[in-house]
Amino acid sequence: MNLLIIRLIIFAVLFFAGLKLYRMYREWKLDREELLEHDDDARQEGGQMVRCSWCKVHVPESDALREQGEWFCSSAHLDRYLQEKKEQKPDDRE
Ligand SMILES: [Zn+2]
Repeated sequence: MNLLIIRLIIFAVLFFAGLKLYRMYREWKLDREELLEHDDDARQEGGQMVRCSWCKVHVPESDALREQGEWFCSSAHLDRYLQEKKEQKPDDRE
């Protein structure tokens, strides 16, 4: 009889310990997800992603160059784009 009670107590303790650990884990996970979401928000507010008109690569707005309503990842691509625009008519460009 005593053994049974001791086992029951041990099971109860293990059960509640497991429950507590599970809740802690869930809270920790939620906190992490919230942090990640906030990070994403901060990144989006900090700078929109824009597409280079020459190589089609997406770059942060703060790193991009703007010319004639188009975005470029670097001055080299800006120059090449403007050069091509001079040689070709805008209609040829997609
Ligand atoms: Zn580019």
